[in-house]
Amino acid sequence: MKVSLHVVPPPRDAPALPASTVRLSEPMLRFRCNQKGCCCSGWDIPFRLEDFLRLHDNLPDGERAALRRGIQLVLEKGDREGEQILHSLKLDGVGEDRACRFLSPEGACSVHARHGLDALPDLCVDFPAFGYRQGERVELWFDPVCPEVIERLDESAAPLRIHEQAGAFGDPGFDLRVAHTSDKLGGRIGDRAVEVAALDRIRALSLEAFSVSERPVWRTLAALAHAYRRLRIGNEAAFEVVEPEDPQPFVRFLGDSIAAHGPDLLAASVARYRRFIHAIDAGPLLAADRLPAALREWQPALERWVAPEEDALRPLASRWLAHRFAIPMLKGRGELRESCDGIVHLYAVSLRYAAAFGETLQRPVDRTLYKVAIGSAEFFYRSLNLPRDVLPWFAAG
Ligand code: SF4
Repeated sequence: MKVSLHVVPPPRDAPALPASTVRLSEPMLRFRCNQKGCCCSGWDIPFRLEDFLRLHDNLPDGERAALRRGIQLVLEKGDREGEQILHSLKLDGVGEDRACRFLSPEGACSVHARHGLDALPDLCVDFPAFGYRQGERVELWFDPVCPEVIERLDESAAPLRIHEQAGAFGDPGFDLRVAHTSDKLGGRIGDRAVEVAALDRIRALSLEAFSVSERPVWRTLAALAHAYRRLRIGNEAAFEVVEPEDPQPFVRFLGDSIAAHGPDLLAASVARYRRFIHAIDAGPLLAADRLPAALREWQPALERWVAPEEDALRPLASRWLAHRFAIPMLKGRGELRESCDGIVHLYAVSLRYAAAFGETLQRPVDRTLYKVAIGSAEFFYRSLNLPRDVLPWFAAG
């Protein structure tokens, strides 16, 4: 079928939207991509038209023809009868991994290396950060599916802090991410948006809860789940983090969450996540099909390989979960109670993976192995909760 397109290029060099302050988890100030290309394969890269045109302009003449091959147009229905609007262009991936055609064999981005940050599609500049904006205030949230985000969370045992940046970072990668931010900052109780001041207080108290260093992580989560579940429209100001008198309902919820998923599904998800695993050699973990059996028999494995390490893992687990509660919206404008339950569920999946990894490798779960479990849980969680058409690419394979 032939499609005729009426191309109206968007204005170039639009001025960046200003931000008076930018908040982000403090360790993310030191985020740098590892240049190993983990997120540059496993999908067909979607470009917006302006990204495509910018890249086209930056490429030398000899490479432009190749850019125009292997493109799928993603069209959306327009308002008028029969009208189709171009949503994005997908560049066919290369090889079995559907890798980006600009990925160099070493894993670095050849467009970035040869033409600089300005030539890259916005998506490639922004990931793993997602930006949220309220007027001139911006928040950048870094997605722990990226192994370097988890590395930054693991760089200290101190309670996680939020950094507030006044004005520009002076780092083009960060400043461009801020400039690209347009999604609205927000959280909901039911259908009703929570005022930003109340949302800030809820998040600050949630973060503070993880700074009680001697308290087991599950008890902090029990206190938070108790507090979030009591949230009602109009009572946001009464939010306080206090442990429930009877923790048993929470313990049952956590146990059910750990047990919730089929071992084969969990194991298949780790295999897809493999390209993000750099902290350990993933070969022995995925070899010989031992992982599904270990995921099935997770209870004794949890007792043997994870429980004795709980104190050693607590700072990392606390910083990861605090990072998640700093922006408890798993989606842009998430329901707060659902988001809290979602984070508990995510933690539960990380425990199941940690137990199974320990059993498969026959070793106690140290921080390195737990980082792989966190990333695997983050990756799995995405494929579980969202409809396929809104899945991030790395979960849609
Ligand atoms: S997942 Fe993170 S570290 Fe890996 S290539 Fe992507 S941005 Fe870089």
